[in-house]
Amino acid sequence: MMGQYVYSFGNGQADGEGSLRVLLGGKGANLAEMTSIGLPVPPGFTLTTEVCKAFYENNRSYPEGLRAEVAAALALVEKRMNKGFGDQQNPLLVSVRSGAPASMPGMMDTVLNLGLNDHTVTGIIAQSNDPRFAYDSYRRFIQMYANVVKGMDGEILESLLERAKSSKGVTLDTELSAADLKQLVADFKACYRTTLGEDFPEDPHEQLWGAIGAVFGSWMNPRAVTYRKLHSIPSDWGTAVNVQAMVFGNMGEDCATGVAFTRDPATGENYFYGEYLVNAQGEDVVAGIRTPQPINRAKHKEGDLPAMEDVLPDSYQQLAKIRTILERHYKDMQDIEFTIETGKLYMLQTRTGKRTAQAAIKIAVDMVQEGLISEKDAVLRVEPAQLDQLLHPSLDPQAEKEVIAKGLPASPGAASGQVVFNAEEAEEQNRLKKKVILVRIETSPEDIHGMNAAQGILTARGGMTSHAAVVARGMGKCCVSGCSDIKIDYEKQQLVTRSGHTIKKGDAITLDGSTGEVILGTVPKVQPAVSGDFATLMSWVDKFRRLKVRTNADTPHDSQTARDFGAEGIGLCRTEHMFFEGDRIQAVREMILADNLAGRKSALDKILPMQKSDFLNIFKVMKGLPVTIRLLDPPLHEFLPQNEDDMSELAHAVGMKFSEVKAHVEQLHEFNPMLGHRGCRLAITYPEVYDMQVQAIMEAACELVKNEGFEIVPEIMIPLVAHVNELRILRANAIRVADEVCRRYGVEVNYLIGTMIELPRAALTADAIAQEAEFFSFGTNDLTQTTYGLSRDDAGHFLPDYVERGVLKRDPFVALDQRGVGELVRIGFERGRSTRADLKVGICGEHGGEPSSVVFCHNVGLDYVSCSPYRVPIARLAAAHAALQDNR
Ligand code: PEP
Ligand code: MG
Repeated sequence: MMGQYVYSFGNGQADGEGSLRVLLGGKGANLAEMTSIGLPVPPGFTLTTEVCKAFYENNRSYPEGLRAEVAAALALVEKRMNKGFGDQQNPLLVSVRSGAPASMPGMMDTVLNLGLNDHTVTGIIAQSNDPRFAYDSYRRFIQMYANVVKGMDGEILESLLERAKSSKGVTLDTELSAADLKQLVADFKACYRTTLGEDFPEDPHEQLWGAIGAVFGSWMNPRAVTYRKLHSIPSDWGTAVNVQAMVFGNMGEDCATGVAFTRDPATGENYFYGEYLVNAQGEDVVAGIRTPQPINRAKHKEGDLPAMEDVLPDSYQQLAKIRTILERHYKDMQDIEFTIETGKLYMLQTRTGKRTAQAAIKIAVDMVQEGLISEKDAVLRVEPAQLDQLLHPSLDPQAEKEVIAKGLPASPGAASGQVVFNAEEAEEQNRLKKKVILVRIETSPEDIHGMNAAQGILTARGGMTSHAAVVARGMGKCCVSGCSDIKIDYEKQQLVTRSGHTIKKGDAITLDGSTGEVILGTVPKVQPAVSGDFATLMSWVDKFRRLKVRTNADTPHDSQTARDFGAEGIGLCRTEHMFFEGDRIQAVREMILADNLAGRKSALDKILPMQKSDFLNIFKVMKGLPVTIRLLDPPLHEFLPQNEDDMSELAHAVGMKFSEVKAHVEQLHEFNPMLGHRGCRLAITYPEVYDMQVQAIMEAACELVKNEGFEIVPEIMIPLVAHVNELRILRANAIRVADEVCRRYGVEVNYLIGTMIELPRAALTADAIAQEAEFFSFGTNDLTQTTYGLSRDDAGHFLPDYVERGVLKRDPFVALDQRGVGELVRIGFERGRSTRADLKVGICGEHGGEPSSVVFCHNVGLDYVSCSPYRVPIARLAAAHAALQDNR
């Protein structure tokens, strides 16, 4: 049986429904849904994503039966509108738009006013009684058709328009008369013929199929491909095409078009936020060409243009009711598009609105309080990765700042960087590790890569719903839009502010996306905190998750930060970082340079009290929570100077000859230090190093237990174990030292000895290793390196190519490779538990804070993940998502 390729909607009836998003695309599904719930939607029909797939599979041809289905659906629209497609007296005009299952704003093509030709234009004149409007629509249609369907350079016809204006001595399109526009239509068609070598199609059916083909074709245009890559949207989803009766917001002063959000998309505040333009067509609002007016008075400021609430009060009231209906229906914030044609309101689109992390949280928490959604829904509404935005610094309120301009607070956060004026430059500077602010008059989809590379975006034109604002919010980037206080000169590569400052390319500015301020120079920032709605949401998160979340921290300060973010212990304290602190590196180097045991021991004696005080301070901050301390891991050469000046300084300090120091450095040189003399291998050769560290840990613990009544169970972790025998020897040493310390202090302190699982052999032999380990922690940084045979330090040079070319979907050092490295995690976990049923198991590689990897750890059954302090809330939320999705 043949599938259904076309779904109609209109006059309160729809073939499809909201749940058919994969088939109808987001726009088509929501048009069907809005129609069914009785909202005023212009009739139309949707060609499904199946058609798009077939189109690409069959060398750009359509499936059998499609034409007949389109003809029937078109007839239904004619009937519902009581107009005829191509009818001279009473013509039906349609729009043809893309609509993919995932929102891809502005990435694909649209054709408006389709159905116009030399005959039907007379019908439009008769109906609208406005020949100027009719010819303006006609010339816009030819421009769009030529550009979108035929790929003709938009500048060609645009220059004819410019010429027409200058020959009349006018500057605005609106100053051209009906006769001028009629002439322009003729000129456009002549130019179309000479440029493309064919006539502009007068047949509306030919126009329709041309536009449908172009929209399906635009699924593969470069900017859509880039957008999908950035947002991980699979290219085999395809787009749907929506053909819908045109309604006009540009037929006079009782017409308008607008975009609104049912709540504020930047802050989440529960008020109706939107912008509109009187006498304008669809894209004018979002394109940022005219600065739109606010829809209501709620946040009206001096100098704002009049609100729709005052100008078109009836339509506003109707729209406000629709806002409530939509929120009750979808139980989420909606982003809507509407048009008012001679006083009658039409809904053109609704979709779940993109929002900042701050808004996502506020909306979720408010909607629970309003009884619209449950706490579980609220938790699932916020994307873990999105929290990253809130965990970034904001401007220090104490800092002095010179505000040089003010625009719209389009996407919150604070960012500083050097000004650049185009996307390529932004990308280039980013590659050189420079922080930049991308400054544009307005942005377009072509600028996406530059926006992605920039710290923040500043535009001179466009509102809160402009391309720049919407895209920046989606990316979680700070953005100030519509900043009319600045004049940008691309040629001179500079901007001038109304306050008289000239900012040249390379000069530093700071943006505050929460206030819209543009500030001279770089302003200090303050660290974020979890409070208010964020704290409320996180308290729900903790009700649903099973995985514990610890942190990777090696200073009391980081430990405190992580506790404030809700960390439930330290999963990895890397002791080597402590070796670099202050003047202790000197003692560490003495230890390395000593060529006998006595020399090493005397150097280690100097380090011992310092390590002990580090541990004391960390234990104090983490009071009551588990702390895993990893013994020394990196190869020794990392602690020695590599240039000759530093070597001679060191020789002087330790009373050795330069040549001796140099010889040591050379002797420690390794071809593959990551696979060399590091981790537990060091302690097999020099057991006294780990002995000192265990002694420091246990003395710190004993002191706190004895003097301050702490309850503490230090977890001592041995890195880079490949064979159980390594662990057997080192564990015996550790027990000897630990028990000796306890005896000396006369207290019983429980401690655990465990290991990192970060080599494939360790994972494969985890059953044997578990005989000597009371806990495992998967070091997935090294495990990824050794499973892939891919250097952690060098892969950054070429892994981006792998991702770019689709060899790998994601960088395996960022998101755990579940199929490969993950399999070793699973094996290690299962084999370890088979030996020791109560084996504690966690992960402390960077993956512990990456949402998809956290979900994987939940599914394998680990006890905890451990991540850097600023990722703790992300991991908590990801763990809750994993648990909630598991229960479904
Ligand atoms: C690891 O290898 O995953 C790990 C946490 O240890 P490090 O990054 O210090 O090698
Ligand atoms: Mg490691």
